[in-house]
Amino acid sequence: MQQSLFLFHSHISYLPLFTAPFSVSIAARSPAQLRTLRLQNYRSVLPCLHSSGNFPPLDPVVGGDAAEDRQMAAEDGQDPRLARISSAIRVIPDFPKPGILFQDITTLLLDVKAFRDTIDLFVERYKGKDISVVAGIEARGFIFGPPIALAIGAKFVPMRKPNKLPGKVISEEYSLEYGTDKIEMHVGAVEPGERALVIDDLIATGGTLCAAIKLLERVGVDVVECACLMELAELKGRERLGDKPLFVLISSA
Ligand code: AMP
Repeated sequence: MQQSLFLFHSHISYLPLFTAPFSVSIAARSPAQLRTLRLQNYRSVLPCLHSSGNFPPLDPVVGGDAAEDRQMAAEDGQDPRLARISSAIRVIPDFPKPGILFQDITTLLLDVKAFRDTIDLFVERYKGKDISVVAGIEARGFIFGPPIALAIGAKFVPMRKPNKLPGKVISEEYSLEYGTDKIEMHVGAVEPGERALVIDDLIATGGTLCAAIKLLERVGVDVVECACLMELAELKGRERLGDKPLFVLISSA
């Protein structure tokens, strides 16, 4: 049974394109509704984001507590904290370029309860899962990653844009719609065999997360899961991750 609670962003009601009721099914949306205009590394998104509801359980590990996960996915599957989180995210049309609906999480950071709830939801999922590395992707993975890392007793490893890290780095290139980009990590920041969580604010096409996973796996790290606040499901980034689990609080599907 689909347990999704639709969380409408009040600030997008001025877009006539989005006044029609939405269906849960992506296929049922018209191309105009999808507005999959892409530019640089930013993608438009459906205005109707809803929380993902039933959180899939994270595989338990030795010493882990799967009961915490089950609690998250309990009964109706909809955590009441998600509504506030979703409505605290502002959508800015035509930023940074025309046609882009920018998901602005800075307004979430102004809402102390919503920000705390966001961190708590991730911590509840990852505490006791023997994760020793939280790898945050520049720049917004740097906002959510450190408090999660501290709360679960893991180190925080920044995955940075090129030429920002002063030490010796390893890097991974990935493709954008036009051209390529790169992320870098300090050599020695992680050890082979460590268990990592990769975190970013949003998954669109999944290219950024894929590069982060590859970078960590190249040095023998076990990427347990990727976590994002939001997923633009119509861009199918989840598929690009293959078998790698992705956990999101809010999804457009
Ligand atoms: P991708 O690699 O296509 O999954 O893109 C994900 C990265 O691009 C994340 O770091 C996001 O912060 C950023 N991004 C892509 N689309 C948007 C959007 N519509 N609003 C805000 N950030 C976006």
